[in-house]
Amino acid sequence: MASSLTDTRSRDLYLRALDVLPGGVNSPVRAMRAIGRDPIFVARGEGAELVDVDGNRYIDYVCSWGPLIHGHAHPEILAAIAQAAAYGTTFGAPTAGEVELAEEVGRRITSVEMLRMTSSGTEAAMSAVRLARAVTDRELILKFSGAYHGHVDGLLAEAGSGLATAGVPASAGVPASATAATVIVAWNDAEAVIAATQRHQFAAILAEPYPANMGLVPPAEGFLELLREQADESGALLIFDEVISGFRVARGGAQELASVRPDITIMGKVIGGGLPAAAYGASRDLMERIAPAGDVYQAGTLSGNPLAVAAGLATLAMLDEKAYLRLAGTTSALAEGLREAAGDRPVQVVSLPGLVTPFFSDRPVTNYAEATACDLDRHAAWCRALLARGVYPPPSQFEAWFPSLAHTPEHLSVTLEAAAAAFTEVFG
Ligand SMILES: *Cc1c(COP(=O)(O)O)cnc(C)c1O
Repeated sequence: MASSLTDTRSRDLYLRALDVLPGGVNSPVRAMRAIGRDPIFVARGEGAELVDVDGNRYIDYVCSWGPLIHGHAHPEILAAIAQAAAYGTTFGAPTAGEVELAEEVGRRITSVEMLRMTSSGTEAAMSAVRLARAVTDRELILKFSGAYHGHVDGLLAEAGSGLATAGVPASAGVPASATAATVIVAWNDAEAVIAATQRHQFAAILAEPYPANMGLVPPAEGFLELLREQADESGALLIFDEVISGFRVARGGAQELASVRPDITIMGKVIGGGLPAAAYGASRDLMERIAPAGDVYQAGTLSGNPLAVAAGLATLAMLDEKAYLRLAGTTSALAEGLREAAGDRPVQVVSLPGLVTPFFSDRPVTNYAEATACDLDRHAAWCRALLARGVYPPPSQFEAWFPSLAHTPEHLSVTLEAAAAAFTEVFG
């Protein structure tokens, strides 16, 4: 399973890519710069495994950053896509699948009576904010530092994910006027949330209920409840960005697991089954503000794309309670095994069903500042050591591992053996 030292094809492709794609990639974290190595060019995926263009095989814990909860190239999902494709790839007109998908989401997430599909989580987040502003007739948004909601101008302030990885506080090219309506508060800081909602009239409190773009940093006891209370008291809407947690941590996402009901839910990743699809949803009242039912304009040429809808439906159809139990079991075995492999070294392994982050820190990580204080150099060396042993972790401290239903006990034992050796290599 170990990768070989010959990575000639990857190297050649990377050099060509650097000529025609900024940084050689189409999304920043893929470049693997945060862990000080070149990107790996993928030839194919099989279940929980990836094969690169040089024939090296890896156990994949990125799984496309979340969508592939059933692993790569699942035969039922491929069949659904192929069948949909045979009837035509896009119409710009409604299809039955979209109705079925919206109904299925509504059965799982009771706060979502209606939804609108988009092609990316970024678009869904942007549109959810627009809806909240229209409904409340207010402009300000409360956002948490280290939370990532896609690359919407106004939300690119102290954002996690690739921005944290690059150490960029915000992006060049974002007008100050765009982030002026965004107020940043530290995650898990109840006092700061209360102070902010007293000082400002927010259209929305926007949160990843289980933030996973600064590494996985779960809410403190009672924190999500506090967000609900503060939203209600101040007349703001509560928006949960469940692009990662939705359909992953539980059948009904984080809001089911935590029993806190948001006003608007942003969905993505798993909902598209590995094809480009995302959505935002809410009560009928709120969603009927969206055009053409209402006055909030939002549209998309490929929104509700038949292939993506087919992949999403096939993905959700296989996500029953048994699947969630199995994913939770795989995740806790992985987390527990990583904890054991780390031993008394300064590593904190955090997990929720379907999500794991090993923080290279001697104390628990509860917010973005603490996440950025981790030993990033050692984490990078550990990731490189894992890749050399055929295990493909997210190449950044500020991302979560995505164990899938395709990961077997054998995959876990190979992973944990590699992890133990990698810990020894970087800590001694
Ligand atoms: C990935 C992600 C997004 C953005 O989704 P894209 O499809 O990449 O635009 C938004 N919010 C969260 C929480 C995410 O993890």
